[in-house]
Amino acid sequence: METKNCDACGDEIPLGRLKAIPTTKRCVKCSNVKAKRPVILTLGEGEDTFNETIFLESDDYDKYMEVENKLYKKELLTPINVIEKQLIEKDLGE
Ligand SMILES: [Zn+2]
Repeated sequence: METKNCDACGDEIPLGRLKAIPTTKRCVKCSNVKAKRPVILTLGEGEDTFNETIFLESDDYDKYMEVENKLYKKELLTPINVIEKQLIEKDLGE
């Protein structure tokens, strides 16, 4: 098998990694720094709802999750959740 050098640091990419991911351009160390992260989006409405997986750069993923978590928390604040939250806080206070 042909050897390849890492695009980022220039080190030779181990053959095992090349075998597992033939299209890789970076060694393990460098690829971990900027690993892409999958995000599952629910798109459409009603019967036309479908899921799509997109891959974001690590930095974009963090930003996305920050926004996503804020929206998610808002949605979770139904009356029942508020009561549960108060009960949990009461439990913790004792
Ligand atoms: Zn490298």
